[in-house]
Amino acid sequence: MMQYDERRDRVHKRHHMGPFAGLRIRPTDQPTTRITPAVRRIDARNTAYGLAGRGEYGPVVQQGVQKSLPSKHPLSAAQKDVIDHLALIRGNSVAPRVASIPQDPAELTRHIKEVAHFLKADLVRTCHVPEWAHYSHDRHGNPIETRYGNAIIIAMRKEWNAVRASTGCDWMGDPISFQAYGHLALVAETMANYIRRLGWEASAQYGPSFVDQYTVLLPPLLLLAGVGEISRAGIVLNPVLGLGFKAAAILTHMPLRPDKPIDFGLQQFCQTCRICALNCPSHAIPTGDKVTYNGYETWKLDTRRCASLNFTNKKGTMCNRCVKSCPWTQPNTWSHHLVRALVTRSRLAGRIALRAAPLLGSARDHPADKWWFDLEYVGRGLESRGVGDR
Ligand code: SF4
Repeated sequence: MMQYDERRDRVHKRHHMGPFAGLRIRPTDQPTTRITPAVRRIDARNTAYGLAGRGEYGPVVQQGVQKSLPSKHPLSAAQKDVIDHLALIRGNSVAPRVASIPQDPAELTRHIKEVAHFLKADLVRTCHVPEWAHYSHDRHGNPIETRYGNAIIIAMRKEWNAVRASTGCDWMGDPISFQAYGHLALVAETMANYIRRLGWEASAQYGPSFVDQYTVLLPPLLLLAGVGEISRAGIVLNPVLGLGFKAAAILTHMPLRPDKPIDFGLQQFCQTCRICALNCPSHAIPTGDKVTYNGYETWKLDTRRCASLNFTNKKGTMCNRCVKSCPWTQPNTWSHHLVRALVTRSRLAGRIALRAAPLLGSARDHPADKWWFDLEYVGRGLESRGVGDR
């Protein structure tokens, strides 16, 4: 196993690794989640949100979708207004000539990563975009073209103090996610605009917005770009950010050098650890083994249960209990970094950390640090609500 440290390569300065520096992470040719040739493109109308929205999970959930999408809480509604405005920006045209800058993919990758960090992305990686990672149709049923060969993935940490104070299933679910989404939208739109000014096509892919931005599924791109490994919770886990981040992509024709998928031992860790499954209020996260689903070998989240809870939650917005309870979702202090470094180097350290996690209370909330009001739109007004299931 080699040290995951690309400092020796001039294309990858230390901070291009974002918070990965010091961990023992193995670059691999394929993601640790086996992706078989049986994988098929997904229709955006058949995602959990699409199915819930058209009543496949029952009328109560469908009504919940209509209520949740404009946002139930005034803070997330305010955040979403801004993201919606960003999504309405008309893309600037591509410069008629490619700029007279180095055309070497490695040089361009170094530059575009610098740009992403300059704009305050917490993590930036690159990958090629396989055809199967595109949606087959958008949510209106229009076929999606597979136009772009390369992707720049940017990730933003969720605000840790709010995650810590929250139960994970209260009114801060959406505001915490939208804080990251809002920043990603700004960075992704700026980068796509900049790349077009340099002379290459580019498309910003981010959510959530009433304007449909996504033509690709982000999770496979996160795996291919080495942002993390798939977790038992069914979402990608980064070795430093844990599950506590959101991601966006910029698809482009700009020539780029792809990063590799990574292996830091998560498949084995999640096989033993079931903390997220035991803390999931909808029992949507499996406690058993991986299965093969649409060509992916993965732990299969029960999306019906997950979406049903999210859209009918009477004591909050979207649930993030798995994110909060996961022992990898911890702040970037030296002590947590030391534990991460040990866990990525030794199975014994992983077993000890797993034993210690419930004692240290990774799932515990801290109501004394709560600063927000529990409010919900009822009709045209705001009413005070219960404080989650504390
Ligand atoms: Fe994996 Fe445990 Fe985190 Fe769930 S809580 S994603 S099982 S490490």
